[in-house]
Amino acid sequence: MTDRQSVIDKIKNELGTQGYVDDPSALDKYNIEARGLYRGHATFVARPGSTEEVAFVVKTCADAGVPMVPLGGHTGLVGGGIAEEEIIVSTERLNKIFDIDTLNGTMTVGAGCILADIQNAADDAGKLFPLSLAAEGSCRIGGNLSTNAGGTNVLRYGNARELVLGLEVVLPTGEIMNGLRGLRKDNTGYDMKHLFMGAEGTLGIITAAVLKLFPKPNQTETALIALENPDSVMKLFGRATGMVGDTLTAFEYMNRNSLWVSCEYTEGVRDPFEDEHPAYVLMELTSPRAGTDLRDAIEKLLEEAFEAGDVVDAVIAESGQQRHDIWHIREAISDAQKGEGASIKNDLSIPISKVTDFIAKADAICERVVPGIRPMTFGHIGDGNLHYNLTQPKGMEGQAFLDKWHDVTDPLNDLVEEMNGSFSAEHGIGRMKRDELVRYSPPVEIELMRKIKAVIDPSGIMNPGKVL
Ligand SMILES: Cc1cc2nc3c(=O)[nH]c(=O)nc-3n(C[C@H](O)[C@H](O)[C@H](O)COP(=O)(O)OP(=O)(O)OC[C@H]3O[C@@H](n4cnc5c(N)ncnc54)[C@H](O)[C@@H]3O)c2cc1C
Repeated sequence: MTDRQSVIDKIKNELGTQGYVDDPSALDKYNIEARGLYRGHATFVARPGSTEEVAFVVKTCADAGVPMVPLGGHTGLVGGGIAEEEIIVSTERLNKIFDIDTLNGTMTVGAGCILADIQNAADDAGKLFPLSLAAEGSCRIGGNLSTNAGGTNVLRYGNARELVLGLEVVLPTGEIMNGLRGLRKDNTGYDMKHLFMGAEGTLGIITAAVLKLFPKPNQTETALIALENPDSVMKLFGRATGMVGDTLTAFEYMNRNSLWVSCEYTEGVRDPFEDEHPAYVLMELTSPRAGTDLRDAIEKLLEEAFEAGDVVDAVIAESGQQRHDIWHIREAISDAQKGEGASIKNDLSIPISKVTDFIAKADAICERVVPGIRPMTFGHIGDGNLHYNLTQPKGMEGQAFLDKWHDVTDPLNDLVEEMNGSFSAEHGIGRMKRDELVRYSPPVEIELMRKIKAVIDPSGIMNPGKVL
């Protein structure tokens, strides 16, 4: 019997029928990534139901030198959860909410909890867990922390990393690092949890976390705003941060192509403006404070921006349904793009003061490389984060366009580098961006990453071939 087969037998024996999947007809969901760019070939998925069972699976694999890939909701977009001959360790049964402590402002959860379930549990307890992204109905918190996910509320609350007080991790040896402390102050040596967040499963398997909860907003104002160009967008952003301060929770950009594609291909989504505009912003203000009139604040802000000539038109949501409709336009863009054929997607961040310059230069580069290319630019522009997605020119064959992937992305990434930005703002490295990591990171940093990986995972069995 091979080592691999004996490992599988031990796992089956220990975890029981609930604890694994090996029926080929049930494996697609573990092998196909959300965007369809990567397809894995795993034949065995372990589904441990507790931290101890994760430790058992990892130790059994480690002792036999069998590699593993941790997996959450499989909504990652860079091939990080793709397995070939490795055993997948799915966190889907680690889906318990252990504790909600409203006075401490914390929630302790299993790594397999779906993000939307965590948001709902916080809401039921009269609190807010602010991490929010379009995949929240299927991504799992362990995946969110492993990719240091961003999303629509980063402007006010920060990335996933900033929402965590404690972490439990099963190391590649099978040892359990229990750091489930809900402390806001804890200066006891190196802060180990930060090593595992953003590591994309290459240093261990996150099994549980203590998350920070926030006061629930009791006022929300949402507006969709039409503007002439990205320069006006950034002027509006500057004005908003000055006038409404920390009530500014979301500031999302969409160019005309993005809004159009979303309305064209998504049922129930429509353009609320009569005229077409080159640029749009979805702006949201929230406040937990009584006595702050956010409607007055957003109206004053827009009035001033109209007078200054920065804003052309605006719709302020009058109901929960209208707010939902506005958000739907933004959230449907990525999927809707498929309707127009192949796309080359980039997830970049640029210092906010350089965003306008970046968009102009990037559009010119892309048009030069593939005439007729259609930038569908949108994203969390208030964080300097753009999904600079490029759709094939009309009439071009999809594969011929995808063959230009590097011709387009290499000069774009060089431009990002020149502007002191990041070629991966929130989706991570996975398989897709390993070369870029080496090309654009300082050699000292790469060397340090390799040393850390070698210390924590000396046999290289934890998510091999990802990130480094
Ligand atoms: C429609 C859509 C919108 C999105 N919007 C955003 C967005 O706004 N912001 C954003 O940041 N991302 C976004 N994403 C990307 C994706 O949703 C996030 O990266 C999410 O955090 C991944 O969570 P997951 O549970 O699906 O992780 P998976 O896809 O299962 O895994 C992602 C990586 O984490 C590792 N991993 C998973 N669980 C664990 C664990 N418990 N321990 C150790 N490693 C683990 C995997 O090995 C893999 O490398 C979007 C994706 C889609 C499809």
